[in-house]
Amino acid sequence: MSTTAQTPASVTVSAPGKINVSLQVGPLRPDGYHAVASVYLALSLREDVTATAAPKPGIAVSVTGGGPLRIPVAGIPLGPDNLVARAAAALAEHVGIADPAVELTITKRVPVAGGMGGGSADAAAALLACNLLWGSGLDAAELRTLAAGLGADVPFALEGGAAVGLGVGDLLTEAPAGTPLHWVLVASSGAGLSTPAVYGRLDALRSEAESGGADPAPEPYAADPRVLEALRTGNAAALADVISNDLQPAALSLAPELVPVLDRGRALGALAGIVSGSGPTLAFLAADAASAAHLEAALRSEGHNALAVHGPVAGAQRTASKT
Ligand code: ATP
Repeated sequence: MSTTAQTPASVTVSAPGKINVSLQVGPLRPDGYHAVASVYLALSLREDVTATAAPKPGIAVSVTGGGPLRIPVAGIPLGPDNLVARAAAALAEHVGIADPAVELTITKRVPVAGGMGGGSADAAAALLACNLLWGSGLDAAELRTLAAGLGADVPFALEGGAAVGLGVGDLLTEAPAGTPLHWVLVASSGAGLSTPAVYGRLDALRSEAESGGADPAPEPYAADPRVLEALRTGNAAALADVISNDLQPAALSLAPELVPVLDRGRALGALAGIVSGSGPTLAFLAADAASAAHLEAALRSEGHNALAVHGPVAGAQRTASKT
């Protein structure tokens, strides 16, 4: 039997979408960014990226949509702007592959521009898939550094689980989590929200409030300890009292049609409802798996694109490879 290491012909990696169960956003910095203190939770709605060795040099991208939330994929860039192409190019440059030859196929299940870090999950999955396809041998720390260069949410999609994110969200510390928490997501039927537009609206709302005498937003130095304790103990009722998202007023002001949906989810039995990240996806916290299934059915019967999920789940991981 040969012992020669063989690189695979294709590798599939799956990576999770996320919600922020707590998101504190600091004031606009001179560099245009905002410091955050975020508590991320990886959810069981996952993207797949398959990296296949191609006969000719180039990074080709294709996307298939659908999934349980029936995600439309028209409008996702298929050229070098796609985050999977940027991830593959960054890895190739880092390891000295001058002419990478790879086809990257995304199976999209996370809402596009939905505030769940779907593109970031794709980037994390592509990094790991190409690392395995090319036998590059980067370790977790090196992958994390490349991930941070691709976007603030990419390191978390690599790590998964639950984590505190400081800086712009990329400085991660694992947050211990007890029993899984059950959620119901509602994908927006309208267009997504651009993350920079939501931050811009937050800045505008804040400067309006400050000119009326409100205090400026504080710098977020640490995650809310009550959120971390509720996660650690897996206590959904306690978490419901303390989940919060500083981006929510801005997202709701750009997409006011979400307000009655939030109210409806709560009226149908959710312990709490929140805009996920920059929105417009909504996340409702349920008491347990049975309550989540019930809420999913109730929201679907009223025409909402709802899905019961749970988290924390693992970060980017190989699910298949072909030789
Ligand atoms: P965030 O990580 O800021 O929460 P999001 O989840 O709201 O982002 P994404 O779906 O990650 O939004 O992508 C936002 C935009 O990035 C899309 O509108 C699209 O133009 C571009 N994009 C690039 N690559 C991808 C990808 N692989 N999947 C989805 N969008 C992508």
